[in-house]
Amino acid sequence: MMRRVVVFVFICSFLSGALMAQKKSTPTERNLLAGIPSGRTRVVDLTYAINDKLPAWPGDDRAFEAKTNAAVEKEGYFTRSFWMLEHYGTHMDAPIHFPPGTIPVDKIPVEHLFGPAVVIDVRDDGRKDADYRLTVERIARWEKAHGRIPAGAVVVLRTGWASRWPDAARYRSLDAAGVMHFPGFSVEAARLLIERKVSGLGIDTMSVDYGASKDFEVHRLAFGAGLYHLENLADLSVLPEAGAFLAVAPIKLEGGSGGPCRVFAILP
Ligand SMILES: [Zn+2]
Repeated sequence: MMRRVVVFVFICSFLSGALMAQKKSTPTERNLLAGIPSGRTRVVDLTYAINDKLPAWPGDDRAFEAKTNAAVEKEGYFTRSFWMLEHYGTHMDAPIHFPPGTIPVDKIPVEHLFGPAVVIDVRDDGRKDADYRLTVERIARWEKAHGRIPAGAVVVLRTGWASRWPDAARYRSLDAAGVMHFPGFSVEAARLLIERKVSGLGIDTMSVDYGASKDFEVHRLAFGAGLYHLENLADLSVLPEAGAFLAVAPIKLEGGSGGPCRVFAILP
């Protein structure tokens, strides 16, 4: 309950830019959302466009299909129907995706879909070691520079893997034994972030668990604590390590294990 109140207060203070302008506030707080239509506030779309050529999880041969149902030339209007995997392209994993998680994508509290973006840059680590996992020490370094990770934050790992998208071979980086290699969160890091009461974990690879993971330990741990995951986030390079705000809009599939998700970063 406390967490909800904190998140609510944060969102209120964020949204009430106009009010705050009358009080004492910094220019970056002022009218942040109101500045979006004019372009004064920059919004970055962290979502890949969906088609049938995106790198899918190995083994998922059929990923996306779209069919034209009505065409302007024939029916006078344009509609399509589509079929896709819930976990394809930029998507959300809901806690129900792995036990002991139970919450489906349509039941994630809306307050958890808005939060400060904590961006942890591990591009150098990933370049040196494709099996790199975020350490507790690296989180401590972030907190030393930017302060304690706030409750309700969405913690995003910037591995640089987005530069390999949509080349499936380079993005998955499978070895001869068919094992994938890309960076992820460690169990210890996930445990600390759960303690910080963050709302979600995000990454610019296929999985918050590192590619070679067999047991998806971070998935199980975080889902058990009610967190969601954002996977295959698009290029995170323009995000500051602190100060951006995320708006996360997953498809509202009743009972869904996750689904395609639009993710926006509002820059300070
Ligand atoms: Zn997923």
